[in-house]
Amino acid sequence: MREMKTVEHRYRSQAVDSVRCDCCNRINRNQDETDWATNNYAVNEIIVSRETGTNYPSDGMNTTTERFHVCPDCWDAHVKTLFASFNSKPTIIEKEA
Ligand SMILES: [Zn+2]
Repeated sequence: MREMKTVEHRYRSQAVDSVRCDCCNRINRNQDETDWATNNYAVNEIIVSRETGTNYPSDGMNTTTERFHVCPDCWDAHVKTLFASFNSKPTIIEKEA
């Protein structure tokens, strides 16, 4: 027979409180640091990142991610403008469920 007892675990962990746009310092307080939506039903996700490292099936993964936080206004004003200077347009992916 196994007898159980209640054990209380106390621990601290880190959680995103806010992020700042790396262009204009606008603050985003969403828990998802890539989500700039201002209401519950809107979608406005911006991810500018690079992940490098190794991923061996038997030995695990070791990577580093570099990320820039960019607000929607700076996406339009700076990121799209930068790529337009290379004559590039964004890839458009539409989803509907
Ligand atoms: Zn910005």
